[in-house]
Amino acid sequence: METKVVVIDEENIDEGAVKNLEEAGEIIKNGGLVAFPTETVYGLGGDALNPESSKKIYAAKGRPSDNPLIVHVADMEHLQKIVTDIPDVAYALAKEYWPGPLTMIMNKSEAVPYETTGGLDTVAIRMPSNKIAAELIRKAGGYIAAPSANVSGRPSPTEAKYCVEDLSGKVEMIIDGGKVGIGLESTIIDLTVNPPMILRPGYITKADLAKILNEVDVDKTILDGNSKVAPKAPGMKYKHYAPKGNLKIVEGDPDKVISYINEKLAEAKNRGVKTGVIATKETADRYEADVVKVAGKRDDEAEIARNLFSILREFDDEEVLEMYSEAFDSTGIGQAIMNRLLKAAGHQVIDLEEA
Ligand code: AMP
Ligand code: MG
Repeated sequence: METKVVVIDEENIDEGAVKNLEEAGEIIKNGGLVAFPTETVYGLGGDALNPESSKKIYAAKGRPSDNPLIVHVADMEHLQKIVTDIPDVAYALAKEYWPGPLTMIMNKSEAVPYETTGGLDTVAIRMPSNKIAAELIRKAGGYIAAPSANVSGRPSPTEAKYCVEDLSGKVEMIIDGGKVGIGLESTIIDLTVNPPMILRPGYITKADLAKILNEVDVDKTILDGNSKVAPKAPGMKYKHYAPKGNLKIVEGDPDKVISYINEKLAEAKNRGVKTGVIATKETADRYEADVVKVAGKRDDEAEIARNLFSILREFDDEEVLEMYSEAFDSTGIGQAIMNRLLKAAGHQVIDLEEA
């Protein structure tokens, strides 16, 4: 299949862009796939109400079919058709955080095929704020199932070029809307349990949610690599975001972390292995790796979130085989950053305080 790539400027959806969005909408209505930008990461979209489309999404990603898809909507009126009842808290959360990087889980109606929900009676729903995404959803009939637009196991794409890398020849169209704003997937909250539970941390933090909800639980498996309990979001159990080389996270006093990492880098260099470090602005020039990536200023978590996945992809492009990362705070957005970083590192953490 030939993949058509079109460029759309989110801030200037002109006549040409509208035509491209209409074509993309038709592709999805006819059972095809389109990769498109959202504010979190790029999505791989198909008609959420068409079981054949969902099967195609799993095939294009190489994703296990028990890992449910998120259904993207553009307007509140569209919710009714896909859920059995809309809890009051959903309205309250939507009022504050939709459109935006929050996914809510509710009980699905018969309109949503089990192919889309990975066999579950619940459905995950999000309303993205990206204007290209919103227009595409409307033109495609209102319901787009879209996981991240990467091949399963690779870092989620934050730019269209990574969608091209992973999905060329497997989808009808890729919409290039530039670099995404947030860079980490949405926060997922399950509203079918009491109290509601965060299944995946994201840009919208527990504290943000607690402003609206009386009580919020967090799935305990989120930061714990040793947990014997399966995570509640089926997708969270898979190894994710993994670069091709070996990544370890080093935690502890900053000076000790730097000297420990430099020691390991020297050893790797002696073995002739290409090395990399994920550093912060404050520490970057103290590392002696072949490739040093600056995630951002340590206190600017939004910047670190935005850069993380592209750094992991760049390590692959530059064929780095041994990597170390500093650890980040595991509160606020930092919790989402650490959650993704831990998965990328296969939970290999070196805690220098414990050593
Ligand atoms: P992605 O689309 O790649 O961001 O992944 C979607 C995530 O949402 C995965 O971790 C899924 O397991 C999770 N998810 C989707 N639907 C449900 C659901 N009904 N219940 C629990 N988790 C879900
Ligand atoms: Mg994903």
